[in-house]
Amino acid sequence: NRKFNLDVWLMLDDLRDLYQEVIFDHNRNPRNFRAMDDADRQIDGFNPLCGDRLTLFIKISDGGVISEASFQGQGCAISTASASLMTEIVKGKTEEEAEQLFTLFHKMATGEHVEMDELGKLAVLAGVCEYPARVKCATLPWHTLDALLKGSEEPVTTE
Ligand code: ZN
Repeated sequence: NRKFNLDVWLMLDDLRDLYQEVIFDHNRNPRNFRAMDDADRQIDGFNPLCGDRLTLFIKISDGGVISEASFQGQGCAISTASASLMTEIVKGKTEEEAEQLFTLFHKMATGEHVEMDELGKLAVLAGVCEYPARVKCATLPWHTLDALLKGSEEPVTTE
């Protein structure tokens, strides 16, 4: 049914526009974009493929909950928006929950099937799986967080 297909495509276009709007917004006005002097842990991440760099800072409460997350650095729109969204979503999550989100996000970004509901706002970056060169831009902040949660202090590189 041609009409139906057209409607579906129109809907997808609207969704893409919406997703792009969110990405542009987080790039223009990144959330939690600041150094944290009293961070419990911090670590650097680098994506040589694109030149994205960030330093990630977190505070962890006694119960193993990420009470604050922030970042600084310079990167493309995708890496900046991804870091901004990540610092927003992991706040209030346990380390274990954050690791689960990393796994889900990584699957989504590399084109594996995931339940989008579980990803919340992070779903706006689902489109990167269509652009292999940008996957590392989107996953850099998450690889950096993963290393930090595993207790590493070595700079992270996606290559
Ligand atoms: Zn990039």
